[in-house]
Amino acid sequence: MAIDVKVTLIAHTPDPERVVAAAARQCYSKYSATKALSELKDEDIKRQLRRRISDGHLSVLEHASFTFAIEGISRACSHQLVRHRIASYSQQSQRYVRLEEMEFVLPDSVAANEESKIKYLEALERCRGCYADLLKMGIPTEDARYILPQASPTKIAVTMNARSLMNFFELRCCLSAQWEIRRLAEEMLRLVKGVAPTMFENAGPFCVSRKICPEKKYDCPKWVELYKK
Ligand SMILES: Cc1cc2nc3c(=O)[nH]c(=O)nc-3n(C[C@H](O)[C@H](O)[C@H](O)COP(=O)(O)OP(=O)(O)OC[C@H]3O[C@@H](n4cnc5c(N)ncnc54)[C@H](O)[C@@H]3O)c2cc1C
Repeated sequence: MAIDVKVTLIAHTPDPERVVAAAARQCYSKYSATKALSELKDEDIKRQLRRRISDGHLSVLEHASFTFAIEGISRACSHQLVRHRIASYSQQSQRYVRLEEMEFVLPDSVAANEESKIKYLEALERCRGCYADLLKMGIPTEDARYILPQASPTKIAVTMNARSLMNFFELRCCLSAQWEIRRLAEEMLRLVKGVAPTMFENAGPFCVSRKICPEKKYDCPKWVELYKK
């Protein structure tokens, strides 16, 4: 019945750190990006990336982009995701795709309590049944979908450049973000670290990336773990 998020990094700029470092190098030397692309050594790439990120010259990060295929998140979560405007999205349509066999997202807080879990699952079953009945009555899919809850699953492909991803991670890896989008953001961060480890080495919530807590929650376990020790 309950489903979980599945994230796949399906494409990215080839050699993203080299591309970003070459573009950055060109800004500060007589070299072209083409020459830098072929001649930069691994240590130069690391140095360029670290320098530009710490200087705040973040526009160079826009030369690397990453595409994720995301499944098993709720519509509540995808609604939060698509608020990030510096990105491209392709989401499974509820107008054209019938969701008769759908499983729903079940929050841990609901699942932890038998009574709330039963109430939640019963309500979802009623929505599912009503949706199926409306379709059988010939109501168009695009209108039957109005009965679907926010717990309905969705599939979405997302492309973001590295700069936008950094912003996304700052906002959504934070412990103040809701658990579902945080889980998604943490998984996306794990995946991009696999292909661009230097670029994303300090990516994460504000307390990790900028050593500040915009919410001033200094009793947050993450802040305590990072700085109070
Ligand atoms: C903890 C939390 C709680 C939230 N609560 C709410 C809520 O209650 N209600 C609600 O509506 N939203 C809420 N949001 C969503 C939030 O307001 C943003 O829409 C969302 O986080 C996207 O962030 P962003 O604008 O930085 O990202 P993007 O849209 O990707 O933009 C990236 C950056 O580009 C720049 N930018 C983009 N567009 C413009 C523009 N038009 N003008 C100037 N600069 C621009 C900004 O610097 C921005 O930070 C919440 C977000 C978080 C993390």
